[in-house]
Amino acid sequence: MSAEIIDGKAIAAVVRAETREAIAAWTAGGGLRPGLATVLVGDDPASAVYVANKQRACAEVGIEGFSHELPTGTTQDRVEALVHELNADPRVSGILLQLPTPAHIDGSHLTTLIDAAKDVDGLTPVSAGLLAKGLPGLRPCTPAGVIELLRRHEVTLEGAQAVIVGRSDLVGKPVAALLLAENATVTSCHSRTRDLEGVCRRADVLIAAVGRPEMVTGSWIKPGAAVIDVGINRTDAGLVGDVEFASAVEVAGLITPVPGGVGPMTIAMLLGNTLAAARSSGGSTRARAGS
Ligand code: NAP
Repeated sequence: MSAEIIDGKAIAAVVRAETREAIAAWTAGGGLRPGLATVLVGDDPASAVYVANKQRACAEVGIEGFSHELPTGTTQDRVEALVHELNADPRVSGILLQLPTPAHIDGSHLTTLIDAAKDVDGLTPVSAGLLAKGLPGLRPCTPAGVIELLRRHEVTLEGAQAVIVGRSDLVGKPVAALLLAENATVTSCHSRTRDLEGVCRRADVLIAAVGRPEMVTGSWIKPGAAVIDVGINRTDAGLVGDVEFASAVEVAGLITPVPGGVGPMTIAMLLGNTLAAARSSGGSTRARAGS
């Protein structure tokens, strides 16, 4: 048996197209055009590429881009002041602080300053709290992308045994909270988990978010399980996930490849979050004209 392969690129393209249509309908109805402000401190080439990709994706769906590129020597105070300005700017529906920041800048603290209503990355403590409490809020993009892939493939989550390997604030914890909200029975694994292989083998839905190349092999997987590989690891053999695809694909029922699985979903969900933030701010062109 060979698993059905989840085409994250194709699903992300559908999500983007849907977001583009929804933005057109929102602005046609008098809604203020959504805007995404990106803040990049320093000259890390990979971060610059990520930010450029996000801005390009925004332009494609009708989100206004506000790109703030600050030199490496920028002070903490200056970046904090910028975050406050963006919080107050009605044209900015979402704020994205590109991490990691240079060593002298406290990126975690800056994140806490972002207004939760504009937290399109879903990473502020307020957004994490809303998620933990099951209250409405902006959800982190990669974890939301994981759920979207499962949803679009109509994977039954209610009552399913869901196992997540990894408990980071960025991926593992929010994925666990989102799966719990879908009424899955959730097990969070980490570096101290005993019999990790045995725990994984019980999973109907297995999420790998570890950052260890091809750690999860076919023998860890329950036949027919849905396997979502969040890992992105650069190796001499190229880009690989946390799951050994060749052995896993023979056992799983459904599986994401790396690349082309979860990766493309992150920006797609960011665009959706930016629209959601614009909608819940209630901004309309009429209101702005009157203000
Ligand atoms: P992270 O912050 O390094 O967290 C890794 C987690 O894995 C930790 O909870 C750690 O446990 C656990 N872990 C490490 N070694 C383990 C082991 N041998 N057995 C069991 N658990 C182990 O990483 P992350 O930010 O969550 O990212 C995870 C992966 O996803 C990385 O490959 C990253 O590149 C990728 N990623 C992809 C996207 C995307 O868009 N597709 C987005 C974000 C991240 P402890 O907590 O006990 O240390």
